[in-house]
Amino acid sequence: MSLNTSLNKSRVNATSRPERSIEFPMDINGKPLKVSQFYGENTFDFLTANEIPEAVKKELKAVSTSKKKLSKEHAEIVANAVVEWATSRGATHFCHWFQPLTGSTAEKHDAFFSLRNGEAIEYLSASQLMQGEPDASSFPNGGSRTTFEARGYTSWDLTSPMFLLENNNGKTLFIPTAFVSYTGQALDIKTPLLRSEIQINEAALRFLNAIDVKANYVKSSCGTEQEYFLIDKDFYYSRPDLVMTGRTLFGSLSAKNQQLDDHYFGDIDDRVLSFMQEFDLELYKLGIPAKTRHNEVAPGQYEMAPIYSDSNISADNNQLVMATIKKVAVKHNFVALMHEKPFAGVNGSGKHLNWSLGTDQGLNMLEPGNEPHSNSRFLAVVACVSEAIFRHGGMIRASIASASNDHRLGANEAPPSIISVYLGDTLERIFKSIKDGKTFNPTDDLDMDMGTQQLVQLARDNTDRNRTSPFAFTGNKFELRACGSSAAIGLPLSILNAAVAEVLNESASFLESEISGGASVEKALMSLTKKWVDSSYNIIFNGDGYSQEWVTEAEKRGLPNFRTTPDALPALVDEKLNAFLTKTGVFTKDELETRFNVLTERYITLREIEFDTLVTMIHQHVLPSVIDYKVKLSEVIKNQKDSGFESSVEKELYKRINFSTETLYARVDNMRNSLKSLPEDELKKAKVIAGTLLPLSEEIAQYCNELEEMIPDDQWTLPKYYDMLFLR
Ligand code: ADP
Ligand code: MG
Repeated sequence: MSLNTSLNKSRVNATSRPERSIEFPMDINGKPLKVSQFYGENTFDFLTANEIPEAVKKELKAVSTSKKKLSKEHAEIVANAVVEWATSRGATHFCHWFQPLTGSTAEKHDAFFSLRNGEAIEYLSASQLMQGEPDASSFPNGGSRTTFEARGYTSWDLTSPMFLLENNNGKTLFIPTAFVSYTGQALDIKTPLLRSEIQINEAALRFLNAIDVKANYVKSSCGTEQEYFLIDKDFYYSRPDLVMTGRTLFGSLSAKNQQLDDHYFGDIDDRVLSFMQEFDLELYKLGIPAKTRHNEVAPGQYEMAPIYSDSNISADNNQLVMATIKKVAVKHNFVALMHEKPFAGVNGSGKHLNWSLGTDQGLNMLEPGNEPHSNSRFLAVVACVSEAIFRHGGMIRASIASASNDHRLGANEAPPSIISVYLGDTLERIFKSIKDGKTFNPTDDLDMDMGTQQLVQLARDNTDRNRTSPFAFTGNKFELRACGSSAAIGLPLSILNAAVAEVLNESASFLESEISGGASVEKALMSLTKKWVDSSYNIIFNGDGYSQEWVTEAEKRGLPNFRTTPDALPALVDEKLNAFLTKTGVFTKDELETRFNVLTERYITLREIEFDTLVTMIHQHVLPSVIDYKVKLSEVIKNQKDSGFESSVEKELYKRINFSTETLYARVDNMRNSLKSLPEDELKKAKVIAGTLLPLSEEIAQYCNELEEMIPDDQWTLPKYYDMLFLR
């Protein structure tokens, strides 16, 4: 434990900084505008743009909700409107913005400026709007065929709004795009998500159609709760591990951390609130509906959540949210840490994906209704989702697997690596009675009268937050809580959509045949619910996901428990497990292989960077401090001896430091040698890293921490947890 009593200026160079002031948008009379007056001012929505004729808008809408293609002529009208909109607001450049398999976003800027017959003009052609051609070979491609076919294409995704990003010295128009190879292979995260939306739409429409519910289309909806840490910028740049890896590779926990539960929902520090206010302002201008902000459990940890939107927009927005947090943080002399576990010993960060299905008629398919029949529909949809998770929990686990998320899943703070479904007491009781063959009748008195309003009330009220569940029903949506804070959400969303689409399709067939066989809609829905409850009952778990008993119990139930990324990723290329993705065309076999390779390689590379950084920091920081102090101590010991006035404390301290240093150094040697003799095969290599080297690095970290605790504060050259977590 480091017990600094005061910030030692010679060791760390951070001062508490004044808040940054910003100007809130004003009207011409200097009165502050309401958010609703400037919300979305930096997004271009072709549906409301004055420059676009109504007929073209109609056409664009049809294109965005079906497989219809946009004509060049219409694209030109949009391009002209966009260039006028963007340049009149000061934009000089545009870019196709896409999400390669790095998990972050990519952009290449082009000027609107052009020369026509020697005359300077602003111009965006229809084809520039619709298609770009970045070099695909420079993005992760996992050794897929496309490596040799370097051409990649970005193509405009008109379901997600274009937006202007402002910098100090200008504005740039961002055009959301999908990124595919010459052969049509998805090189990005967005393309499969868009395909999964097509699947979920078709399947859900079939389902609704079978039970006479009117809808023109169904989309999945998503709201992301984003957690992050803020630390002072000076501390960040004094910690090579944070700069290189996003997390502290060692660091002694301060005496007080989160034991007193005094940070969660606590009053927000002024400097942090100033940051949040500017952050929200930026989001509003971008048309991102930021709704909540608060302190999270760990000191220095915060959260934001938006109002939900269509999954594809939500996925784009979340990338922008992460980028905006980072950008605004720096203006306030903070650095935002998105890593899932920046500090050992306090909570890490996640991202809850709230997910549901909604129709264009405003029906939320996971909303319990007020009528018996809407209750049976609601129960059937919940049962479908449970069945989907039961079948494909392993794939969902694979979709959220990363080196950084491994530090969080299964630790006693975050959902376990076993995927299960939490329904809350009421629904679980209903499901149990259905499974036990008590004919479920909404008007029956099970334990309670679930006729009408009560089920709605109970299902809603019953969302007592079981924080330990990775996939929880919370009133009118499911919440995937195992997603990492730094992750792009497109991959888990595509998998979730595809899994549910598969079950909805089978369910539609079932309902069609039951109903054509004479069953009432309600009866058919109940039989369907029973069918899925019977088959997937094992996935339902309302208990404590952190407990060891659950690990044992889950194993008995046959639920997979992939503890690490290299354990989880092979599901992607297991043909039995991935058939639901290849059959529906959400992913091709090749694309899954690509993702498996990219993610495995990424895991290895990230860990290797961590190990190298750790070894370097030990040589450049830990050992020099230790050696200096040992010299000092031995001088003291020698002087004492000379003066005949010996004390055991110095000798004992010297001995302890010496012991920790020697053991540490032996482990470091061990690490260096092991790194030289890793297996060739990537998956095997990843497994050795996860199984042997990562635990070894954690042991090394322990020795560093011991030394940190024994070395005088002013001789420790790195910012400590105390500094980073508590100084604002
Ligand atoms: P709760 O407090 O019950 O978790 P909130 O209303 O605070 O509910 O929502 C938490 C997150 O869930 C928000 O990001 C919100 O937008 C999202 N959310 C709410 N309803 C839905 C829905 N139908 N589909 C997807 N996300 C939703
Ligand atoms: Mg939540």
